[in-house]
Amino acid sequence: MHKLILKPGREKSLKRRHPWIFSGAVGKLQGKPESGDTVEIHSAFGEFLAVAAYSARSQIVARVWDWEERAIDAAFFRERVAFAVNERRAYLYEDVTDAVRLVHGESDGLPGIIADRYGDTVVLQLTSAGAERWRDTIADRVLEASGASRLWERSDADARELEGLAAKSGPLRGSREPTRIAVTENALAFEVDLERGHKTGFYLDQRENRRRARELADGRDVLDGFCYTGGFALNALKGGARSVVAIDSSGDALDLARANGSRNGLAGVEWVEGDVFQYLRKLRDQARDFDLVVLDPPKFAPTAAHVTKAARAYKDINLLAFKLLRPGGMLMTYSCSGGVPLELFQKIVAGAALDAGVRVQLIERLGPGPDHPVALNFPEGDYLKGLICRVASG
Ligand code: SAH
Repeated sequence: MHKLILKPGREKSLKRRHPWIFSGAVGKLQGKPESGDTVEIHSAFGEFLAVAAYSARSQIVARVWDWEERAIDAAFFRERVAFAVNERRAYLYEDVTDAVRLVHGESDGLPGIIADRYGDTVVLQLTSAGAERWRDTIADRVLEASGASRLWERSDADARELEGLAAKSGPLRGSREPTRIAVTENALAFEVDLERGHKTGFYLDQRENRRRARELADGRDVLDGFCYTGGFALNALKGGARSVVAIDSSGDALDLARANGSRNGLAGVEWVEGDVFQYLRKLRDQARDFDLVVLDPPKFAPTAAHVTKAARAYKDINLLAFKLLRPGGMLMTYSCSGGVPLELFQKIVAGAALDAGVRVQLIERLGPGPDHPVALNFPEGDYLKGLICRVASG
């Protein structure tokens, strides 16, 4: 067995069960592991700490599979995948949706592995060398545990580059067609494009927030910034919004959004292809105003290194949103930047309100649903932060 021996004192985070070993913590490597191989992690004093997947190219040189001395083999993946999939059953998602995250990476003890279920299809995304090594086993075990009939791969996330892995996507098990499937979420149908959709095809982590938008939208003029395939916009309309303007820069996403509108018999959204930063300014210059604004931008800060620039971008759009809100209006604002902790995000939004000259109260904090659990020893998993704010009237 290959062994990775840490520098003295560098075992602390592992003892708190944080699953990543950074290259700077490595004292010595025994054996000649290749990327994806299983290595034992030992402290400088020879204490066994974990078994992990080695990654030669990444800053994260190993990711923990288990804290016990055990073989990493097909039986390991069968057990762990089945556990993750069964956990989702406890939440009775079948009453709500047929689109659910089944495996959520490190938080499910499966680093680098994401599996999302869309009806009868599972989309798998593998982002680490260890996950890549076990690709076929993982595909079979996910299919078996979920009972789905097909499996697609969308291993084309940027994270793969850091691991020295090429992008891979396409059908992995079962039929190639159809490449577009309809899922139902809270009685609204959405088309998911397996080939060209973002990430695995749909932003499952916003399900509960889209539902909340529906509850808050009644009688309101709504603006949905970064609307993708219409998730928030259509929920708002379903919830009785008086009008909805929805903006995205992706023409493909808007085509699906329009199709989703028709599919649900929901007409009347004003779909705008454009840049939110510019379009919000345009709306401000036209003196348009709204009662509910949703801002769900892409990740501005994937890591802490991008925080300053990201903070400026978050402040900009939130400030503009506050300017567009009527007194008593609500802002649902999100960050999915791993590099921006909740406290900082709240501070940025507070700064935006101050500069916009409005008095704002925080009404609710909303993260993702329970199919996106966060292992408490893995704060990096807590990436999606949502704040619902109300602009004081008068
Ligand atoms: N709220 C959506 C998910 C949004 S994902 C849902 O519930 O499904 C972020 C979206 O922002 C993507 O669709 C992307 O195309 C879009 N986007 C990224 N940069 C943008 C920009 N500057 N202006 C407008 N849209 C942008």
